[in-house]
Amino acid sequence: MASESRLIESIRKRFASLRSTPIVKDAARNDWLRVGIGDDAAVLRPAPGYECVVTTDAFLENVHFLRKVHEAVAVGYKALARATSDIAAMGARPRYFFLTLGLPESCSGKWFDQFITGMARAACEFGLVLAGGDTTKYPEVVIALTVFGEAKRGRAVLRSGAQPGDLLCVSGRLGESELGLRLILGDARNQRRWPQLVKKHFHPQPRLALGRWLASHRLATSMIDTSDGLSTDLSHICHASGVGARVIADKIPAVHLPPELHALKLHPLNLALHGGEDYELLFTVSKKFSGRLPAAIEKIPVTVIGEITRDKKVTLVGADGKPQPLRPLGWDPFRK
Ligand SMILES: [Mg+2]
Repeated sequence: MASESRLIESIRKRFASLRSTPIVKDAARNDWLRVGIGDDAAVLRPAPGYECVVTTDAFLENVHFLRKVHEAVAVGYKALARATSDIAAMGARPRYFFLTLGLPESCSGKWFDQFITGMARAACEFGLVLAGGDTTKYPEVVIALTVFGEAKRGRAVLRSGAQPGDLLCVSGRLGESELGLRLILGDARNQRRWPQLVKKHFHPQPRLALGRWLASHRLATSMIDTSDGLSTDLSHICHASGVGARVIADKIPAVHLPPELHALKLHPLNLALHGGEDYELLFTVSKKFSGRLPAAIEKIPVTVIGEITRDKKVTLVGADGKPQPLRPLGWDPFRK
């Protein structure tokens, strides 16, 4: 077993070297970090006029990923992408992160190096600086991340701001990650056979630029990232805002299934409604500003899929024009 201090030193070194890359350097310019790795605790001092946006995320072996299916590089990348997606969903900019890592002895060598390589790649893309953490030995891989972001005072976008009549919008395409997961669980060789279809499952892209654009233009009245599936994440917005929603099934940008996969009998609409881990943004926009909503923002397509209602029900309107209840059937670790 590598010593704990060797692991910490190699984590520190790997992330310290990122500070010279342009995006991380830019983030470090207006530096909040008075004391980083190496003391008992970090000391952060947000710039005047800004607020701290903080999120935590657990990414656990055999709950969220399988070591024999998910390669170490993808585990490292995805762990940080998942956590950072919550910063995107607030319309904030990611700045610092803290990593707590539990590892079995068998993962302290090559697995660990590849894991850190994947996480460093994500940190570099998202502009994140590692500010501290902890490592320990544990029978399974346990990854706990805390990400700090910044938002201009009062500009963070909450789940609770949706108003009746607002348009309901979503970025990108839904169900892609779930399709990737079903493919690799069906047959591990599908990872090589369908690299484009499994890409989003292994390397999700938090919609940081889109989230910040929406916050800075004050266009989103509420927002959430689609981590658990559209049906479940929409129910969170509706619950927090005290409203309902009507979703038009035909408008949902559902995953494309190539004809070769039709035999799998997967339903694109079901994947889009209830499949988790797309990490797209689901948000609401006041109807009077709908003219200011482009078809794509920061190169990410945006689709209006319905509207917010005063009636607190969440419904799906199918091809027959009849609204059916849309139950939250996305990812829930405690559902039997
Ligand atoms: Mg979230």
